[in-house]
Amino acid sequence: AEIPTQRIDGRAVAEAVVAAVGAASARLTAETGIRPGLAVVLVGEDPASQVYVGAKGKRATALGFHSVQHTLPASTSEIELIALVEALNRDPEIHGILVQFPLPGRLDEARARVIEAIAPEKDVDGLHPLNVGRLAAGGEAMVPCTPAGAMLLIRRVLGPDLSGREAVVVGRSNLVGKPIAQLLLQAQATVTIAHSRTADLPAVTRRADILVAATGRPEMVRGDWIKPGAVVIDVGINRVAAPEKGPDGTRLCGDVATAEATGRAAAITPVPGGVGPMTIAMLMANTVKAAYRAAGWPAPP
Ligand code: NDP
Repeated sequence: AEIPTQRIDGRAVAEAVVAAVGAASARLTAETGIRPGLAVVLVGEDPASQVYVGAKGKRATALGFHSVQHTLPASTSEIELIALVEALNRDPEIHGILVQFPLPGRLDEARARVIEAIAPEKDVDGLHPLNVGRLAAGGEAMVPCTPAGAMLLIRRVLGPDLSGREAVVVGRSNLVGKPIAQLLLQAQATVTIAHSRTADLPAVTRRADILVAATGRPEMVRGDWIKPGAVVIDVGINRVAAPEKGPDGTRLCGDVATAEATGRAAAITPVPGGVGPMTIAMLMANTVKAAYRAAGWPAPP
C-alpha cells in the first residue's frame, strides 16, 4: 500500500528560524548597542562559492547585522589568509567568521590550518577542532550549519527524542555526515555512518527509520533502498542536465530519487527547498549566538 509522503517545507522552517533570530538580534542591539557581526571570506572566483557568499551576506544585512565580505584574489597565500583571519579574531565588531571552502587550487591544502586559526568562539561554521570535540563530547559547541538545520527538520517531524530509532547517515564528511551523526546520537538514535566503502549499502539504508543522504551523488538513493515509513533527509544539492528544458537545460536534484521515495517514505525534504534554506538560517542563528556570548548573555532561545 502507498504511504502518504509528507514534503518537509525547509523554506517555511527556515523563515521561522530567521524571524526568531531577528527578534533575538533586535533585543541584543536595543539593550547593549551590539549588532551581531558576520565576516565572510571568499578567496578566488568560484561561481558557486560567489553565489553562497552573496546569499549569506544579503541575509545578514537584511537582519540588521554588521556584515562584511572580504574577497581575496586566488593568488592569496596561506600566510595572508591566516593574517586576515587573525585580524578578524581581534575585531570586536565581528562575532562570526566564515571562510568559504573549497579554497582555490593548492591553497585548499591549508584548509585545516586556516580553520584552526579561527577563534573557536567566532567559528560559526563549527569546523574548529575545539567545536568538533565539544560536539562529540556533548559540550556547548558551535554546530555546523547544515547538520544543525537538518536536525531541526528531523525534530519538526519526530520530536526531540529519537530513542529506539535507527538512523543511517550516508556520507562521512567533516562538514555534513559526521556532525549529523553526532547530533542524531545525542538525540538518542542508534546511528550507522555509511560511506563509499560500505558493503551492500541498500541493505544498510533499508534499516533506517531516519535516512540522511549526504553523498553528492545525484539521486543515488533509490526508492527500494528506503524502509517504508522512514523519514528521509536529502542533503545533496546537485546540478544535472535536464534535456527537457532545452539543449543546455539543467535542474537541481538531491542525493535521493525523490519520485521513487514518494509513496514509500513518511516524510522527505525536497531539493531545492529542504535542507538548503536551513543552512543560511542556522548561520544567522550561530552568529547571534556568538554575539550573545560576546556580550556575556546566555544563549538566545
Ligand atoms: P563530500 O564530497 O565531502 O562527502 C561525500 C561523502 O559521501 C563521502 O563521505 C563519501 O564517502 C560519500 N560517498 C560518495 N559516493 C558514495 C557512494 N557511491 N556510496 C556511498 N557513499 C558515498 O560532500 P559533502 O559532505 O560536503 O556534501 C554532500 C552533499 O551535500 C553534496 O551534494 C553537497 O552539495 C551537499 N551540501 C549541501 C549543503 C546545503 O546547504 N544543503 C551544504 C553542504 C553540502 P568516502 O568518505 O568514502 O569518500
